[in-house]
Amino acid sequence: MKLSNNQHGFSHHFLLPLFVIVAVAGVGTYVLQRGRAATNPYDDAGLVELKKKEDPKRGLVYKQDLRKVKKNANHPCQGQFEIQRKNPKEPILCTHGPDPAPQGADITKTRSELDVERVAKPLSKEGSVSQPFAVQAAAATVSGTNPYAPIAPKCYGDGHDGHRVQLVYAYVSKDNFANYQPYLRMFAGAADMAVVYSSVHSGTGSTGRHIRFEQDPKTCQPTFLKVRMPKYDSNDSTINNFKTAAPLTQYVTTRSYLIFMDVGGECGLGTSFGDKNPYGPLNESNNNVEYAAVGRDCWHYAETHELFHNFGAVSDWAPHTTGAGHCYDGYDIMCYDDGGHNFQGSTWYGNNSCPGVTARWQLDCGKNDYFSTASPISSTNYLKNNWNTANSPYLGL
Ligand SMILES: [Zn+2]
Repeated sequence: MKLSNNQHGFSHHFLLPLFVIVAVAGVGTYVLQRGRAATNPYDDAGLVELKKKEDPKRGLVYKQDLRKVKKNANHPCQGQFEIQRKNPKEPILCTHGPDPAPQGADITKTRSELDVERVAKPLSKEGSVSQPFAVQAAAATVSGTNPYAPIAPKCYGDGHDGHRVQLVYAYVSKDNFANYQPYLRMFAGAADMAVVYSSVHSGTGSTGRHIRFEQDPKTCQPTFLKVRMPKYDSNDSTINNFKTAAPLTQYVTTRSYLIFMDVGGECGLGTSFGDKNPYGPLNESNNNVEYAAVGRDCWHYAETHELFHNFGAVSDWAPHTTGAGHCYDGYDIMCYDDGGHNFQGSTWYGNNSCPGVTARWQLDCGKNDYFSTASPISSTNYLKNNWNTANSPYLGL
């Protein structure tokens, strides 16, 4: 993990005179201490302001381990949160913070097992359009297949090589894995469906993409890591609770862990570096462990959204960035009113590229902020020279 990070455009020349003074005058200790004090990266006052807008019914709660980082700080999480490490040797993780459940939801009333079965049924029978991240009903219309059946994902390599999305079932006391696994497979399949659909509808020259799951090479089915969390500290974020129970995962830099947290009252939390570097091997999103945690109340809703945070969406430099990790480009998996300073619509779906509700399961409906498989990409498109998550090593052709 590089602590200094140029991705957000700030410059190192401020530091250069400092190093010269240290080297020439040999007064390093004093100067460095003073330098550190002057560059405290944390914005605790900003967090106080955010906490005033908490909405527990939608899972929008800033846990004590989320530390707000100033914009333009010399810190990889600048403008976002750092998920506080229990041990300074752990890799740094950044996130824009918790993602809320749909408007009108109350996830303080935890879903029962029966409700999990209900949510696995087609959205059309729910009669609801309030779930911008849910993709199933629309995908079924497009593909003519039944996306609620267990998926037959694409097989890649030996099932383990390269970058992979590892599915996880994490629980506290009651192990419901045997009951839930068929549903969890569907939810993972729905995320894959969103990628497939969006990639073949990216305009001229589009080519399909699938999620590269960690999978059984014989059946191609994604495999699950099952993790028991002996303790669950509700004052901490889902990701720190998971890391405490599965500490070794944090050193696997080629994995994005999609964690189905069997815990109530939480919606989604995804790590993201938002690095705009177009060159994949150097982009931070591809060189760090990533976590996409989805609480039980937001299963079948937030999976694709959190995964695409992991893959690097939405950068604060994208043309329709909210300034807080999302976009304001209409109905779109990554677009909603997150309170970011750039949000330009009166409601979460804005009024821009994708006004129709059918786009609610689409990635980058404007094809110019974070995902496009068009070929060639126009020279005036932001994605031509900035990170395009369609090139993520977590996705395959
Ligand atoms: Zn988000």
